[in-house]
Amino acid sequence: MFEYFKYMKFADVLLPLPLSRYFTYAVPSEMQECLRIGSRVVVPFGRKKYYTAIVVFLHDHPTDVYEIKEIFSLLDEVPILRRPQLKFWEWIASYYLCSVGDVYKAALPSGLKLESESCIMLNDDYEEIPKQKLSSKERDVLNVLSGKGKCSISELEKISGIKNLMPTVRTLLEKEAVYMYEQLKEGYRPKTENYIRLCFGQEQQAELKELFDTLASAKKQLNLLMAYLDLSGFMRKKEFREVSKKELTERAGVSAAVMKALIDKKIFVVYKNEISRFTDMSCHTVPTHELSQAQQQAYKEIIDSFVHKDVSLLQGVTSSGKTEIYIHLIQEILRKGRQVLYLVPEIALTTQLTSRLQRIFGSQLVIYHSKFSENERAEIWNNMLRTNDVKIVLGVRSSIFLPFTDLGLVIVDEEHEKTYKQQDPAPRYHARNAAIVLASMHGAKTLLGSATPAIESYYNAMTGKYGWVSLTQRYDDISLPEIKIADLQQFRKKKQMSGTFSPLLIKQAKEGLERGEQVILFQNRRGFAPVMECKLCAWIPKCRHCDVTLTYHKRQNQLTCHYCGAVYDIPHICPACGQPSIEIKGYGTERIEEEIAAIFPDYSVSRLDLDSTRTRKAYEQIINQFQQKKMQILIGTQMVTKGLDFDNVSVVGILNADGLMNYPDFRAYERAFQLMVQVAGRAGRKNKRGTVILQTANPAHPLIRQIVNNDYEAMYNNQIEERKQFNYPPFSRLIHIFLKHRDETLLFQYSTMYADYLRKIFKHRILGPDNPPVSRIQSLYIRTITLKIENQASMSRVKELLQQAYENLLQVEGFKTVILYYDVDPL
Ligand code: ADP
Ligand code: ZN
Ligand code: ZN
Repeated sequence: MFEYFKYMKFADVLLPLPLSRYFTYAVPSEMQECLRIGSRVVVPFGRKKYYTAIVVFLHDHPTDVYEIKEIFSLLDEVPILRRPQLKFWEWIASYYLCSVGDVYKAALPSGLKLESESCIMLNDDYEEIPKQKLSSKERDVLNVLSGKGKCSISELEKISGIKNLMPTVRTLLEKEAVYMYEQLKEGYRPKTENYIRLCFGQEQQAELKELFDTLASAKKQLNLLMAYLDLSGFMRKKEFREVSKKELTERAGVSAAVMKALIDKKIFVVYKNEISRFTDMSCHTVPTHELSQAQQQAYKEIIDSFVHKDVSLLQGVTSSGKTEIYIHLIQEILRKGRQVLYLVPEIALTTQLTSRLQRIFGSQLVIYHSKFSENERAEIWNNMLRTNDVKIVLGVRSSIFLPFTDLGLVIVDEEHEKTYKQQDPAPRYHARNAAIVLASMHGAKTLLGSATPAIESYYNAMTGKYGWVSLTQRYDDISLPEIKIADLQQFRKKKQMSGTFSPLLIKQAKEGLERGEQVILFQNRRGFAPVMECKLCAWIPKCRHCDVTLTYHKRQNQLTCHYCGAVYDIPHICPACGQPSIEIKGYGTERIEEEIAAIFPDYSVSRLDLDSTRTRKAYEQIINQFQQKKMQILIGTQMVTKGLDFDNVSVVGILNADGLMNYPDFRAYERAFQLMVQVAGRAGRKNKRGTVILQTANPAHPLIRQIVNNDYEAMYNNQIEERKQFNYPPFSRLIHIFLKHRDETLLFQYSTMYADYLRKIFKHRILGPDNPPVSRIQSLYIRTITLKIENQASMSRVKELLQQAYENLLQVEGFKTVILYYDVDPL
């Protein structure tokens, strides 16, 4: 029996698991002094499992009266979280209808979460029975284990030379031939570098002379020693500095053998230093540009609006110089000694922007990219926790989780971007909206920037909830591009199309190229062709796991599912009718690249899409080469629309405007407008107006007119009218309830039953269940129920009701097998 009286204190902790509550643990006496809210602790949970938990509450009265376990170990004496962070996590969990554990999992870099590396032990009592004969692989594993006693799965793989032992270990576990043995390992390891010092200190200079004598006959070693003395400033005492082995070897220009000789002779001593992963960050600060008059005016209006409003929207046409205004605002905040969070969408973190900001702000700026390793993320986190060096974070959506001390300003650039919303896994948060809440917790202001604001944001600005500042001039009086329409129906009728290119597009591109200018072609589909089809029987290849047609990738000569990544061979004979009659239809970026290269053989072409930019390097390389004019034509998906600033692009082609507009979604027109205006904004340069060729079969469509006139307001008025009529956001709030199951019939039954049940509670506010546009992904069928509620409704009440409903439904046999989650404010 556990002795409660021994302990004065209990800790409620947060586990990195999707559980809806905190758990109470007893604090061992030796930890009582140093345990803090926000500290990491290792606790046992479930059977033989250990997790890194976070202390959220300390008290004397246990509520979990039975079976209170003890905290296993304490990882931090100094809390790993800063004051509002827990509160912020709780807000996210309650608004986005997920557990705080989900937020914790997403927020903390996994380098800071202890991993429970799976370790396997032999079961000595195991006896093979005829019904469960062991495979040869299983026998190999047991042999290795009987020699070693216990070892981790990765070790097992190394020793046995067999790859991917997980399935084998799993079957051995089922047969109870082995046991799991949880072993903790620290995930984050600081990166270290080797340094060199002399075997004696600076005060013992007499020893030096002796050294020179001993090395007199070894010229190279002497040179190396001299190089060390020079680099370290050993003789100059005051200027002494540490010297890394790498730096020294380079300076002396000697081989590793020479270095080794001095180390072996114990003249040099090697020691390790923790180094930052970001040493290459330049610190040469440069002055900022002076603001133009229009920018100055906007800057002043923003400052004024912040007197009364916590959030302001800066609506500035493309190339109006919003970035310059941000820079001046940042400087103002830094003068006050506060911090800035500068959010950009995933793909906008180009070298163009980062190097500009780095040159201005030097090491005060930290970049937080989604392609950083977990170690790099952990290092940024620790740096912000332990020092006051970081003043500006330029980052993608997850940077809202970093431990800020005192935010003074949050900037959300391209605030309309869909990538700010996290899709999977939970928490399915919107970084713009969450950042506004975070800012208010710090007493900071938020500036949203865009040329084409989200309807919701513009509505908030128009109704006075947000401030609104507009900037209608491009910097340096470059005029907005002229948009010309290529009427595809006309050209098709006259048989003037070359593949997917209209004669107008080809003519404009040709003229631009001949003048030495560059061309961007925009197509929002990657791969070679979006569809393959049998000419005779209309059979279309689909993914075996998803309700999605496969995309043909010519370079790999494969069919790919863009939802789950599965790849398939190309069928040369139609599996349905047995004829060799399969043809490709439609255009992806790869096909456009190939065909445009054939039309303009004298110019070099490149492609910017998910497939050509698997690494950050590849992406930057393409951008840099295009900027240095090493190629003339750039084909791309929406990756070409963001944050790029080229000065020699005179022609932009939008190949398929209709494909962007025809989506069964109430946001389709808003998105199409935003995308096309952003793409168009890439055209134009100093003293020269750019041209955009917009290819469409519906030139009379109101949205096309709005794009041609760059008339955001007209688009907004149309859209807001529709939203009002159908009670869509911003006039209501949507919550999608996703239900997934392997069995289509069961899913149909359960989702219908669930919707009926919810309808009793929420009445007309429940819609569905429906099949989403893609109704099967990775072998799971999907149905959605929509909850459309009043803006004023309390989210915590909604959460309570939904939770209750779910728990009641769990009583129904089999309902447990349904995967269920919520998406609040879905995009
Ligand atoms: P936006 O973000 O509004 O699309 P940018 O901030 O990228 O526009 O500015 C467009 C271009 O104009 C950039 O090349 C930028 O360096 C330049 N620019 C903007 N404002 C100034 C200024 N005040 N002085 C010098 N150059 C500027
Ligand atoms: Zn698939
Ligand atoms: Zn066929």
